[in-house]
This record gives sequence, C-alpha cells and structure tokens, in this order.
Amino acid sequence: MYIKIADCRMVDTRSRKVERVDIGVKDGVVDAVGEVKAKADKALDAHGDYVSPALVDLHSHVYHLGTSLGVDADEIARSWGTGVFVDAGSSGAGNFAGFRDHVIRRSGAKIYAFLNIGFGGIPFFGIHGDQQAGEIPDIRVADEDACADCIERNRGDIVGVKVRVSENANGTLGVEPLKAARRCARRAKVPLMVHFGRPQPTVKEVVSLLDKGDILTHAFRAEPNSIVEGGHVLREIAAARKRGVVMDIGHGSGSFSFDTARRALADGFKPDTISTDIHTLSLADPVVSLETTMTKLLGLGMSMAEVVLAATYSPAAAIGRPEHGSITVGRPADLVTLSLSAGRKKLRDAAGEAMEFDGEIRPVLRLKGNRVSRPGAG
Ligand SMILES: [Zn+2]
Repeated sequence: MYIKIADCRMVDTRSRKVERVDIGVKDGVVDAVGEVKAKADKALDAHGDYVSPALVDLHSHVYHLGTSLGVDADEIARSWGTGVFVDAGSSGAGNFAGFRDHVIRRSGAKIYAFLNIGFGGIPFFGIHGDQQAGEIPDIRVADEDACADCIERNRGDIVGVKVRVSENANGTLGVEPLKAARRCARRAKVPLMVHFGRPQPTVKEVVSLLDKGDILTHAFRAEPNSIVEGGHVLREIAAARKRGVVMDIGHGSGSFSFDTARRALADGFKPDTISTDIHTLSLADPVVSLETTMTKLLGLGMSMAEVVLAATYSPAAAIGRPEHGSITVGRPADLVTLSLSAGRKKLRDAAGEAMEFDGEIRPVLRLKGNRVSRPGAG
C-alpha cells in the first residue's frame, strides 16, 4: 500500500525554512519526503497546506475517568491533529499504575507522563464545581523515594517530574514542594516541569531553581505573578531562558493572557513550546484544541513555521523523544496537514479578553500508518 500526499508545505527542523514537498508512505512507514517517485495506490492533495508530525501537546491532562480533570485523549485525537499527549502530573506514584494500565496502554494516541511529586497526583480538582484544594497540603505527600522508584520502573512512559507551586496547589509551603521535585528529577535524571500561579511563591523564586531542560509552564499567565513587569520580561526570566529553561504556554483555564503575550513578544520573547493544559474545565472554553492555541500565537505575531515547531519539534525534544518531532524516512507515519482557514475568528484567552484573529489553524488530513482520516470534517 503506497500513499502519496502531494503539494505540502513542510518546516525544515534545522533551517526553520518552509519547503514544498510531497510525502510518500509505504505500508505505514515514511518512504519519501521531497520528491515521490513510487507509483501511489492512494494519491492525496494537500493543496499547499502545511504538513507536520502529529502534534505533540506538552501539557495535557488525560487520566480520563481516573481523575476529575482528565479528558479523553482518543476523542481529542479523532477531532484534532494531536497525536502525542504529555500528561502533566495528573498522577503520582500512588496511582500511576492505574493511569498506565487503564489509559496509556489502551489509548490509540501516544501518551507520556510527567509524574507528580505529590503521591496522589492532582486529586482535588473541580470540587464545588470549579474550585480546587492543593495536592500537597502537607510536605510528607511529596514522597521523593516513591516518585523516583516509580520513574525507574516506568522509564518508557514517564518522561519527567511535575510540581505545582501556587497558593492553590499547596497553600503556605512556598517552594518546598518544588525543591523536593527538583531533587527527585535530578536523581532520576529527567526534566522537571513547574506550574506557577498566584503567589506564593513568586516566579522569580521559581525560576531561580530551574536549570537547562526544565520546563516553566504557564509562562505567559496574567498578573499577579506575570513574567512581565513594567512592560518588559523580567531579567530573571530572560536569564533562565538563556541557560536553557524551556518556556511553555500551558494555556488552561487560568494561565494564558493575550496581554502578557503581546508584551513578551514585543520584547522578542517567544514561547519555546505551545501546549494546551487541556482538562475538563478548560477544554470547551477557552482552550478548545492545540490548533486553537497555535492560532492565538500566530495571530499575536509568531510565524506559521514557529508555531508548528513549537507544537511538534520543540516539545518532542523537551521530553527526550525527538522521533515524534519530525517526519523522517524510515519511521512509522504519524502526520497531519494543517490549513489556515479564511475569515475572522473571535477567541478568548484565560484572563477573559476576547480578540479577533485572521484565519484559524485547522487539521485537514491525518495519516497514521496506513490509515487516513479527516479530523476537521466533523
Ligand atoms: Zn495542568
């Protein structure tokens, strides 16, 4: 079975330039990128749309039915172009096995996990409708030995350690849970992903504890505790980026602000990775999808090449799984074509601001192995 997709725009991961290519897939494996010489059994035309690996969502919550915030990865993968979901700490050492056996192993999508330093993951989300109680009310819940053991036993599924430090997540403990998570991540030699929110602690305190390869999620959140002060990106944040800390969007229901993004981008400070923080309370509004989140950054001034790489190549690199970040000859096919639709679209950030955008990124063709689907059609 030979499938050809003609007339695609593809972002070269090295030069970051856009090339015109045809893609050939033989028996579910990428056979050619550029010129396709083989005769195709099935010929598809991308009409100049972008082609990229299936999107990689670096911050999602997909412990569906096992946690109150988990959404169904398979359902999202059917409607949109996301092929790799990185769960950001929904589970901890105490309940990771359930996530692995009941969700990760049974899903048609690829799922990786950042393991929460909190023993029970994120268990108190959505109490009284839309409220939450922190997952680490007592520092003993941050069980470093259990976390490190669980990572060691599940290296194929767990790609890092997650910690949430904010007033919501752990009250008055400040950076103590972060310090525990950091020790655990260093021991296991995996990256650390940190959520920050309403202080305490401040984002300055948080980034002072992060090193190369660690991820600051919710980086473009609104005040209070924004990375922008007096119209410019904080010196401490610029320095963290310089030493290799990954700046992630993690949109969610409360963590992305057009205003912060406008000021950061005006300073030349772009996110390294674009992710949704998709969960039961953010999915329908304001997140919708990873494509919708990419549309927002595109409209705010990033280029199409930049937003595509920030939702494929860069998150794949951040979790140490570069094979998901490019379309490579010899690898199983898992790709999507993305169109930029015409027309005006009004979208909301997580701070309540609405903004009109020119065009919208939508998935058109999804090719996984030999299977072609049209996720945007429904
Ligand atoms: Zn999250």
